[in-house]
Amino acid sequence: MTTRQDYLNNGYTEVVDGVAFLWPGNPIGKDYFCDVFRYCWSKIPDESRLEIIQYLKQEGDGTIVLKVHRLPGEFMGYCVYYGSEIRINDVAVMLYPQSKLRNVVWHELAHIADYARNFEAKEIIERVIMHRDAEDWVDGEAYKGFEDRADRIMKEWGVHRTKFPRTKADEKRMATFMPAIEADMKKLAELRRRARLIDTMHKQ
Ligand SMILES: [Zn+2]
Repeated sequence: MTTRQDYLNNGYTEVVDGVAFLWPGNPIGKDYFCDVFRYCWSKIPDESRLEIIQYLKQEGDGTIVLKVHRLPGEFMGYCVYYGSEIRINDVAVMLYPQSKLRNVVWHELAHIADYARNFEAKEIIERVIMHRDAEDWVDGEAYKGFEDRADRIMKEWGVHRTKFPRTKADEKRMATFMPAIEADMKKLAELRRRARLIDTMHKQ
């Protein structure tokens, strides 16, 4: 298993405002995503950045692991392990307009600020996040409250957006990533086809 120390040793690190951002692996669109992340971080008001930094140092080792990879279902972002890890769906990195990807990043950072502000409730928040996909999970109200608070924090930061215009640069990026996405889709369709075959065999 790769540890945070491995990330630090392997040079996938950037320290901004005393927070080490750790980038495991070399995901598609990494440089672009790094730029988007830096921009989002820089637009958060100073007091709130400080709040997040203090929380990360108090709770963990002052690092955020940033992972870009395919997430299940409709999820474009996750904030997990008490806010010490952010996962972004690579589909959002490849196909979202930049303005919309920024929103995803701010949303996940807002979850960390929420952890910081509700320190005593962090166990509940973590339970809510970790079990939101579970079939027997019934704590919908708690989840909604959690998302509403993230939205409120984004409004407070002045970064909340509802419109996401697509620019020429977005079109260009989409075109670059399209072959990779299409190859993935083919792979996925093949996996689904095989899964259905296995399923049918079991039923017979
Ligand atoms: Zn959320």
